[in-house]
Amino acid sequence: MERSLVLLKPDALDRGIVGEVIHRFERAGIKIVGMKMVVANEETAKKHYTEDLAQRRGEAVRNLMISMISSGPIVALALEGVEVVEVVRKMVGTTEPKSAAPGTIRGDFAHVSFKHADEHKMGVFNLIHASGSKEEGETEIAVWFKPEELVEHHPSYTHITLKQ
Ligand code: ADP
Repeated sequence: MERSLVLLKPDALDRGIVGEVIHRFERAGIKIVGMKMVVANEETAKKHYTEDLAQRRGEAVRNLMISMISSGPIVALALEGVEVVEVVRKMVGTTEPKSAAPGTIRGDFAHVSFKHADEHKMGVFNLIHASGSKEEGETEIAVWFKPEELVEHHPSYTHITLKQ
């Protein structure tokens, strides 16, 4: 089993689509093993949006995202499932909402472009963060959750296996 960190960013809470987004993951059979509402402080925001983001997108984008993610309440989810990192990224859609496919969270609930964000010196407000790799899933969950905040649970039918 694999785990992914999902953050419903302040724009998702502002839009009132928390339930709608979580519903999509539940519908796909993905298990919630951690969930909480938080207002991130700058230290946590910096641990989440690391130097790696500055290297990929520039220091200005990193600073913008640190301010953005700590600007209001967010909902953090630790999700578990089979190859869940890839599945969740597929459901989330590409970074730029304008290019995100219909049916994805970013494609269905947002539409802004990189061009618009650049021209207005804004962040690309795309509602949601999802871990990019299995390793990132583990490290990002550790940024947002204490071990005791994660709950292992298994439905009893999964313990019933084929008899030889
Ligand atoms: P993703 O969230 O799809 O994994 P990145 O890790 O590359 O994408 O970027 C982190 C976040 O920074 C994006 O989700 C988006 O909100 C914001 N962002 C990325 N690139 C830009 C940009 N050029 N201008 C403004 N905001 C950006």
